[in-house]
Amino acid sequence: PTGEMEKTLELRSLGNTGLKLSCVGFGASPLGSVFGPVSDEEAIATVREAFRLGINFFDTSPYYGGTLSEKVLGNALKAVGVPRDKIIVSTKCGRYKEGFDFSAARVTKSIDESLQRLQLDYVDILQCHDIEFGSLDQVLNQLHKPFPSSTPYITHPSIYQSSSQIINETIPALQKLKQSGKIRFIGITGLPLQIFSYVLDRVPPGTIDVILSYCHYGINDTTLKDLLPYLKSKGVGVISASPLSMGLLTENGPPDWHPASPQLKAACQNAADFCKKKGKDISKIAMKYSLCNEDISTVLVGMKSVQQVQVNVEAAMEVVNGEKDEEILVEVEEILKPVKNQTWLSGI
Ligand code: NAD
Repeated sequence: PTGEMEKTLELRSLGNTGLKLSCVGFGASPLGSVFGPVSDEEAIATVREAFRLGINFFDTSPYYGGTLSEKVLGNALKAVGVPRDKIIVSTKCGRYKEGFDFSAARVTKSIDESLQRLQLDYVDILQCHDIEFGSLDQVLNQLHKPFPSSTPYITHPSIYQSSSQIINETIPALQKLKQSGKIRFIGITGLPLQIFSYVLDRVPPGTIDVILSYCHYGINDTTLKDLLPYLKSKGVGVISASPLSMGLLTENGPPDWHPASPQLKAACQNAADFCKKKGKDISKIAMKYSLCNEDISTVLVGMKSVQQVQVNVEAAMEVVNGEKDEEILVEVEEILKPVKNQTWLSGI
């Protein structure tokens, strides 16, 4: 009813999967201590608060903290006593501390290792982690040339044939894992947006259930927006990760390893300082900005404290209740204008 404050976190459908994800998703890379150290107690308290406040989606990878994120998330979920059927868990394969390996043998072994670390019998989603590092290289070089938009799965033209291990080897291995019940849905992740249509145009409908894009739907970079109608037409669920651009849109700033240019880092720091002077929190404003697009199933944000969980859930509540940041947003967008949609290189 009008006038009444919304109290539960909104659930959104993930493409054709039938899954309903909380609009704020829990990114567990910080639990691998990649954004500074996190104790087991903090990790458990953070996961407990997330579940209590209605977050039902948890994403990790064997790569984060060199398997630490999966272990810490698994322990935390167990310690909190979260019922398995009340949460949606996603992990990844193909990217490891030791390097990339998208071979069928490696990803098939990888899921068993992940399940053991997570202390689970299955994951809801298994995603090929950063496929621009797989053998799409020659293929991506051809992207400026016109190609048929719905190339059949097996009989694609020979100019692309040489290189697509992801399509011809990794995805079929994941389909077998789906049949075995170890995973329910298949996803692909990466930074350059072209990789998604490249793969989706070359597999039969329903092969890829989900894509995870990161750092492309936030105040400083909105390039994912143009791809959303296409993804919707394919029935593919959209996870938009890193709404804070991996720490750029925070008062404390990004970690040392952040790949952004000095110019982009400086502009984001200016924007954060500006908000602080106005008594506002840039992270909350950024969360609200990303959450406004309903074609995104979940805004996946990395969290490592109870307070961050509370702020990010509060952001979602404010969106539902129509509390906007219009004035300050205009000013923040103005500060970020010189670096709008600036990204960095990723892949081979
Ligand atoms: P992010 O943009 O979510 O930022 C995370 C940083 O912001 C962390 O330092 C976190 O502690 C901090 N933070 C979170 N909420 C805050 C708040 N309210 N106030 C201040 N600081 C806050 O970046 P991310 O963690 O890299 O991305 C989110 C998740 O998406 C990851 O944890 C991971 O699960 C997933 N992801 C996947 C890929 C991929 O598959 N290639 C890439 C990036 C991210």
